[in-house]
Amino acid sequence: MTDGNPKAPYTTTNTGIPVESDEHSLTVGSDGPILLHDHYAIEKMAQFNRERVPERVVHAKGGGAYGRFEVTNDVSQFTKADLFQPGKHTEMLARFSTVAGEQGSPDTWRDPRGFALKFYTEQGNYDLVGNNTPVFFVRDTIKFQDFIRSQKRQPDTGLRDNNMQWDFWTLSPESAHQVTYLMGDRGVPKTWRHMNGYGSHTFMWVNGGGERFWIKYHIKTDQGIDFLTQAEADQLAGTDGDAHRRDLFDSIASGNAPSWTMYVQVMPFEDAADYRFNPFDLTKVWPHGDYPLIEVGRMTLDKNPEDFFIHIEQAAFEPSNMVPGIGPSPDKMLLGRMFSYPDTHRYRIGPNYAQLPPNRPHSPVNSYAKDGPMRYVASQASAVYAPNSYGGPAADTDRFGEPAGWESSGPMVREAYKLRRDDDDFGQAGALVRKAMDDGARERLVANVAGHLSNGVTRPVLERAFQYWRNIDKGIGDRIAAKVNGG
Ligand code: NDP
Repeated sequence: MTDGNPKAPYTTTNTGIPVESDEHSLTVGSDGPILLHDHYAIEKMAQFNRERVPERVVHAKGGGAYGRFEVTNDVSQFTKADLFQPGKHTEMLARFSTVAGEQGSPDTWRDPRGFALKFYTEQGNYDLVGNNTPVFFVRDTIKFQDFIRSQKRQPDTGLRDNNMQWDFWTLSPESAHQVTYLMGDRGVPKTWRHMNGYGSHTFMWVNGGGERFWIKYHIKTDQGIDFLTQAEADQLAGTDGDAHRRDLFDSIASGNAPSWTMYVQVMPFEDAADYRFNPFDLTKVWPHGDYPLIEVGRMTLDKNPEDFFIHIEQAAFEPSNMVPGIGPSPDKMLLGRMFSYPDTHRYRIGPNYAQLPPNRPHSPVNSYAKDGPMRYVASQASAVYAPNSYGGPAADTDRFGEPAGWESSGPMVREAYKLRRDDDDFGQAGALVRKAMDDGARERLVANVAGHLSNGVTRPVLERAFQYWRNIDKGIGDRIAAKVNGG
């Protein structure tokens, strides 16, 4: 018998035992002390105390949905990857996020957006863990932690600090391209549905004949690019901090499934050696004029998670998840991320995170991994070590034995990428301002930067910031300085 709703199931403990009351602890008389052997009340309190896993150290605030990827163009001449073969449909998961803000931070803070995709292919999970910008602030993984700390909070006040951000950026001129992108219109997308995604790194594709190509991914929104002005973003941050999470959920729930078209730029393997700038440098784009976009397929997000924590909070994306036909490149950021992501998941969710619903491959798992906290899917292997004589899994080196790699030799050094003839920190940022933006976008860029610099940035960082912008574009730098100095 249940109170109120006769159809509701009866409440149980976590182990299925019917409970005596939803509302009253076990006490000595109605006014007396609570008894320690009230197993159910204790279970509720203890479980509640353990409800959170640590939030992601970056990309903590986000949202996502499931969907599918359909190949619309034949790119099999460039890759043998199962998910990119003609006619193929692959189930997938996407998660969008801000970078620096914490779980409760507003969706409309100016920040790059994470654009993380997981494809459940027939040969294991392929994760493309990109952003809504084609470049990044630093090009060597050893600077990543410093960069993020400069965007987070001061150790004493616990406050975010524009001075700290500009101090790092102006001392790291390789950030100029990404900072220009960030301070422009695309620094606050109208919604997640109205932004592009980029794989950002250069990756390798390998075709069925073993031929290698360098590629870059562009995932363009079919909803059209749209943005919020700084004033609109600030207003929404105060009235609906979850605006982007809400928009994605509501759109899908109302049958308005957003979609994106995936393209790649393809560089012949040999071109990389003497291309005019380093094609693996994450602070650079490949001009479309040099390497045009080739359509690959369409991704559509049409299924909301039935439980946010299980499917989105515990989703674990890892750039190291590459399937046959896809490999890394000598990009020092990508190589660092290939260690860092699985490492953070082992810490944040636990070493058996790959068994959880959003992370579990839809293809067979025949690994020799064993035991550990919260492991609940038994290994199918008939032996616990390899090699063995008892029919345990054995690597199929005839089919999969060739790593996607490149030739490398030289002394061990700690050096920047060797400069090529068009390698510099400011050229592509300048092209973005002069070529991609129109007058209105440039005006908003100047206002956004001047507003940011006027909020707590002090000399000498301020002077360095003016020079940084003059290096990007003399006219823009002068306009920013005049606006800040003129008030
Ligand atoms: P292109 O004319 O070939 O590319 C310009 C691209 O810039 C557009 O296709 C668009 O990319 C993007 N863009 C347009 N308006 C803005 C804006 N307000 N903010 C940010 N991006 C915008 O010229 P190049 O290839 O020579 O590139 C010139 C500059 O464009 C680059 O320095 C880079 O900053 C930027 N860019 C280039 C991309 C590339 O892959 N080549 C990609 C994105 C930006 P999209 O179609 O992806 O929306």
